[in-house]
Amino acid sequence: MTGTNSINAKRDYGKWRAITLGTVYLLMGLHIAHWKLAGRTLAPLEFNEVLYTVHLGIITAGFIFMGLTIIATLIFGRFFCSWMCHMLALQDGCAWLLSKVNIKPKHIRSRTLLYLPFAAVLYLFLLPQIERAMTGQPPVSFHIAQDAEGWASFMTNDLWRNLPSVGITLFTFVICGGLTVYVLGTRSFCYYGCPYGMVFALADRVAPGKIKLTGNCTECGKCTAACTSHIQVMKEVNQFDRVVDPNCLKDLDCIQVCPEDALSFGMAKPAGFASLKKKDGFKKQYDFSIAEDISLALLTFVFITIYRGLYDTIPFLLAIAFGILFSFGCIIMWRVLKKEYVRFGHYTLKQSFELQNMVKFIWQLC
Ligand code: SF4
Ligand code: SF4
Repeated sequence: MTGTNSINAKRDYGKWRAITLGTVYLLMGLHIAHWKLAGRTLAPLEFNEVLYTVHLGIITAGFIFMGLTIIATLIFGRFFCSWMCHMLALQDGCAWLLSKVNIKPKHIRSRTLLYLPFAAVLYLFLLPQIERAMTGQPPVSFHIAQDAEGWASFMTNDLWRNLPSVGITLFTFVICGGLTVYVLGTRSFCYYGCPYGMVFALADRVAPGKIKLTGNCTECGKCTAACTSHIQVMKEVNQFDRVVDPNCLKDLDCIQVCPEDALSFGMAKPAGFASLKKKDGFKKQYDFSIAEDISLALLTFVFITIYRGLYDTIPFLLAIAFGILFSFGCIIMWRVLKKEYVRFGHYTLKQSFELQNMVKFIWQLC
């Protein structure tokens, strides 16, 4: 999935990841088939079922799945996203397809959108609890429930209970897993949109499971080039002896491409907040001015508020993707109106036409 040529056939992690992620879709299909045939099946193993545990006290299969995943992440680091998440499978699959037609989406760097998943976690999980405490409501009591009580814990007749219609579900996949990659770069939804990814990123900071420098690095830079999470792998391993960025999804692409076998996955000192330290010789570049970045955040908030639950149809993750894409579109429109030179990804949207260029252009026409 890296798209590089220097793949060691003995360690084709990309192939294994494709098989694993394909198996996730296969299991999802089998789960739906079992429900359709038997009429009753295991409750959805979806992370958004956690909301029903947090707010109503109903212990759900999704809550237990999330809990186990967090425990595993606390040990092995943020591996779930790249090996087991259906949304990342779509994003990486989309990036792979685009690479086949020579399109390499540019990663858009924003200093404010980085906090959007954090805001989403606050909004989904913490604010309702604060409101409950402030209005004097008692804390939820955890219990196991059945379908007859409105929401079953483990076995259910309604597997689709927490999902939008099939059409909207597919549309969400196309927008979150496809369009965001093309417009904002690979894994942009993981960075800027996913509240669960943010929880795993926090757990990754205390996890000992890390990509480590265990050999001689010749500073060829192939690991950084291969990283579709846009991490400065070479700089991080040379400064910290390990990758400390919590956006490292442990997909092992960097290990696969290293010609010196200098990288490996193993246990190391947890990164804590080392990623916030300035990396040697590395200055973070952003694609927006501070004013644009603040406008981007405010517009995203406005668009999410507009789209969330619109016509009882738009799910939260789709509203987030809409919010980011529309606000990004607004910033680009503003630049087109105000600036002389505007680029979007690899495309020039506006360019001043100087006299010298015009004469050259007419000369060529003649
Ligand atoms: S870790 Fe390996 S791939 Fe990365 S810069 Fe060093 S030698 Fe190159
Ligand atoms: S640092 Fe290595 S393992 Fe982590 S996301 Fe980048 S390529 Fe994958």
